[in-house]
Amino acid sequence: MPGADFTRALVISTRSWSESSRIVTILSPDLGKFRAVCRGVQKPQGGMAAALEPITLSEIVLRQSSRGGMAHVSAADAVEYFACTKKSLIGLAVAGGLLELCETAMPENEPADAVFDHLLSLLNELETLLRQREHSERNAINLLWRGILVLSGDFGYGMQFETCVACGAVPHRAKGFCLAEGGPVCDACSVPNSLNWGPGTEEILRWLASAEDSALPARTIPRTQNREIRTLFERYFRFHVPGFDHLRSLDMLVAKRDQ
Ligand SMILES: [Zn+2]
Repeated sequence: MPGADFTRALVISTRSWSESSRIVTILSPDLGKFRAVCRGVQKPQGGMAAALEPITLSEIVLRQSSRGGMAHVSAADAVEYFACTKKSLIGLAVAGGLLELCETAMPENEPADAVFDHLLSLLNELETLLRQREHSERNAINLLWRGILVLSGDFGYGMQFETCVACGAVPHRAKGFCLAEGGPVCDACSVPNSLNWGPGTEEILRWLASAEDSALPARTIPRTQNREIRTLFERYFRFHVPGFDHLRSLDMLVAKRDQ
């Protein structure tokens, strides 16, 4: 429908389209996730270019195409740059992982109030953690794990860590996690497409799903468990999202550790 829309939006990703224009993927509470063309934003000093960088909250004016093509961004003003997040490697990895998930696993052009609110509060918590420096930067990864649990619920295939997916029992300790049903499998049950987990990982996942927001930045999860959680989540999304491979934004953390 032709006309102009004014919306608050999170910039998910951007790529060059021609010498002077870019295509941005944007998440707006009322318009959902969509792609739009922006002309004249390749000049590095332009304020509009900064407002259309990934990991930025902006007010944008959109002009809808009369021929049903992509909308054009005719103006954009940044509201929040998330400056501490963009200066930190783990900040970029965590925020990048959350946005990447929206880009790959969320349907386009559907209203997205819940996803938008959840994503914005996760990005705000991440920015606060990195700015205050009260806790280890490493703990920022907890916000990605929590975000994955919250967003997968918003996308329609949430996970739980309380009751066995086959018999409904509340296991003291489950032997693994069922990818198809998104929940634990107790010792007595046998379920296809399930993944075994090591000691500790189940308890940490249960904590990640239920902890108060304010408690999340205070705990340092051991590397072994972080690796196992990453594997579980990536296998889970591979099972539920066609074409999903892995969380690319986390590769930069692994590459740095291996140096
Ligand atoms: Zn069971």
